[in-house]
Amino acid sequence: MDRKPRKAVRCLSNGQHEGDERFRLLVAHALDAVITIDAQGRITSWNPQAERLFGWPEADILGRLLSDTIVPPAYRAAHERGLAHFRATGEGPALNRRIELTALRRDGTEFPVELAITPMRLGDATVFSAFLRDITDRKRAEKALRDSEGSFRLLFTANPLPMWLYDLETLAFVEVNAAAVARYGYSRDEFLSMRITDIRPPEDVPRLLDLVARERLSGRRDTEEWRHRLKDGRIIDVRVTSHSLEFAGRHAALVVAEDITDRKLAEAARVRDSEERFRLIAASVTDYGIFILDPEGRVVSWNAGAERIKGYRVDEIVGQHFSRFYTEEDVRGGKPAQGLAVARAAGRFEDEGWRVRKDGSRFWASVEITAVRDPGGRLHGFSNVTRDSTERKRKDDALREANRFLDSVVENIPHMIFVKDAEELRFVRSNKSGEELLGHTRDELLGKNDYDFFPPSQADALTSQDRAVLAGSRVVDIPEELIETREHGTRILHTKKIPIRDEHGVPRYLLGISEDITERKRAEEALREAREDAERANNAKSEFLSRMSHELRTPLNAILGFGQLLELRLEQPRDREGVDQILKAGRHLLNLINEVLDISRIESGRFPLSLEPVLLGEAIGRVVDLAGPLATERRVELHAGGAVGDGRYVLADSQRLQQVLLNLVSNGIKYNREGGRLTVACGAAAEGRLRISVKDGGAGIPQAQQARLFTPFERLGAETEGVEGTGLGLALSKRLVEAMGGSIGLESVEGEGSTFWVELPETGAHSADLQEDPSDEAPGADRAKRRGTVLYIEDNPSNLRLVEQVLAERSATRFIPAMQGRLGLALAREHRPDLILADLHLPDMSGEDVLREVLGDPALRGTPVIVLSADATPVRQLLALLDTELPAP
Ligand code: ADP
Repeated sequence: MDRKPRKAVRCLSNGQHEGDERFRLLVAHALDAVITIDAQGRITSWNPQAERLFGWPEADILGRLLSDTIVPPAYRAAHERGLAHFRATGEGPALNRRIELTALRRDGTEFPVELAITPMRLGDATVFSAFLRDITDRKRAEKALRDSEGSFRLLFTANPLPMWLYDLETLAFVEVNAAAVARYGYSRDEFLSMRITDIRPPEDVPRLLDLVARERLSGRRDTEEWRHRLKDGRIIDVRVTSHSLEFAGRHAALVVAEDITDRKLAEAARVRDSEERFRLIAASVTDYGIFILDPEGRVVSWNAGAERIKGYRVDEIVGQHFSRFYTEEDVRGGKPAQGLAVARAAGRFEDEGWRVRKDGSRFWASVEITAVRDPGGRLHGFSNVTRDSTERKRKDDALREANRFLDSVVENIPHMIFVKDAEELRFVRSNKSGEELLGHTRDELLGKNDYDFFPPSQADALTSQDRAVLAGSRVVDIPEELIETREHGTRILHTKKIPIRDEHGVPRYLLGISEDITERKRAEEALREAREDAERANNAKSEFLSRMSHELRTPLNAILGFGQLLELRLEQPRDREGVDQILKAGRHLLNLINEVLDISRIESGRFPLSLEPVLLGEAIGRVVDLAGPLATERRVELHAGGAVGDGRYVLADSQRLQQVLLNLVSNGIKYNREGGRLTVACGAAAEGRLRISVKDGGAGIPQAQQARLFTPFERLGAETEGVEGTGLGLALSKRLVEAMGGSIGLESVEGEGSTFWVELPETGAHSADLQEDPSDEAPGADRAKRRGTVLYIEDNPSNLRLVEQVLAERSATRFIPAMQGRLGLALAREHRPDLILADLHLPDMSGEDVLREVLGDPALRGTPVIVLSADATPVRQLLALLDTELPAP
């Protein structure tokens, strides 16, 4: 027996009464059931906890045997034996220690208790105190624990998957299950003598150590694929799941290793299969370069398209790094690596850029790099699909360039250009000129319509016009439209509007081009006014000249007429010479007046020309006749080639043509040398024209002066040589010829002579009436020989007197003067004159009216009427009135 109980016994025997009471209190309030029994096993005390625990009240149980009450029948014999043994020996194996027993409740149920029995000596007697505690719950918990531990252990030991536990610090195997032993071929003891690194291929060890170190820190590790080495040396693929845990006070990891070798093989076969298929498909593709890179970027496979695009054969490129396809700049900028990095992280990388072919040339590539991973997520490499987009880029660039060009054209064109959408007629585009014209910036314009800028009525008009344009299909031209602008007031625009349709013919846009014609319109207006002013002034001038010439010529006629009379009468040669000078000066003045008047009329466009077929031979013949006396006077030989004109016609005004030709012929005579020749010839010229040339044998005209010949009053010094002339002849001739649609010019050789020529359009003969009938002259000649009566209707008395005197000088003609038209007609009916002379301008009627009256009166109808005028114009009108042609005045 040990010492403690003995001491307690001693203590109890020393202060018994006091001790009894204290013990009772202690027992009564103890947490455990406390009972005492005597050496016979009879219960001597029973506390309330014991009552509760066993269901026996103290009163019912005191004095009863323990073995009759709380010891279950199965243990009673053992209990009795124990007590007897103690009584005999003073020893008991159950004393003074905690033992677990089964106890019996009053209701017959058994339950586990923890029991500590202490023997005490009370005088001679020995008593036992027992402390009892219900351990039902603990037992149950222990059992549960035992049960679960068992099943968990079973999970480990009996698991069909290889499992082991290893020490995270030492990496030594701590426990291993049967499946692992079976699969790996190592015995359990062999396993427990190894470290986990021992079952790896050496090359995987660094990665493993790295991972374990991380697992030690984080406490977790994901499922991964590894390769393990079996005892026989074979390597298998495994999927490893690892969990760290505390095991027997050690930081350990529980590992489940699933053998996936077969699956991997099947997968690899499948991958190989699909890779092979892919390779076959890819290999035949030529439009795209398709090649595979390993994870580092080295070429692994290469198809026909890649060869075509990049120029490398398979054997040249496999194993090479793909950065060689990049330009130097891109390689320096790290582009190849970036591409792979993006593909690795995001799965895919797309790029466009310049790439380099084997021959160093560049092409524009569209590239797609895709990361290729196995089902476990391990990167196998990259697939690279490259397309040669050089052509597309070239087109894109060209298109962009063309667009830029068009944009700048549109932008810089000096007209407003605008585009409106067809739906709402809102501005979608405008140019700089548009901004300037409308006084709104592009931002203000775009998205708005006409109602935002123009007064409602104008916007209405513009909008309905736009709608009409969109409904049609053609360009609509609006020559003038007025718009109100913000900064420039009202502007006049010339606008073209064009509907723009899509491929289905649906109108999409309206294109407008507007030119601001305000200034031009104003200038045109000013010009028109100026022209009207000039025309008015010119008309006034012509009117003035016409009146002036009339006024000048009337007194000149008197001067010349009376001068001629005087010439006839004067006997003295000196007197006659004086009158001769007067006549010469008078004729010169008359020529001057006539030519100035003609020039001014031609220039003001009021010169009447009557173009008709003119028989050239005849016209030339007449001119030669007229010039005959002058030629004789100057002793110039005049030749008109026998068949001049050869029956050909030109389109001309007959009289004016004669005037021109006469001028050229007279010049040819005037500026010829003595005894020289003058030849008039005619021939065909270019463009259906006929050329009449007048060739003289004069001194010729220096080239430098030729251009000046045709300017008015330009005589090239002829005035100092005493040759008569006005300096207006060629100027007038040029204007006349050109007015008739012809041309005039000359060739001249100094010292040999000049050839002046006129060209006029050739034409056929239209009317036989135009040909003069020589028989007409016969009756006129007869009449001249007869004595007759002349009626002269003229309001100017000096003219009346002049004509009266002329007639009196020459013949015995009876002269009847009349100063008014009506009076003249009355006298004509009364006297039936042989000839009526009538001035064109009469106080009561015109000479034309006189003629009309005469023609309309059957009694007077046959009477010749000469209408006298200072200018030629009205005469032609008069001629039109007559049935038969009158000889030229
Ligand atoms: P005008 O004969 O009245 O002076 P024209 O206009 O007919 O005026 O001629 C202008 C000038 O041209 C003449 O003054 C003369 O100097 C020169 N001219 C004209 N015809 C000839 C010619 N056939 N030969 C030389 N000079 C000529």
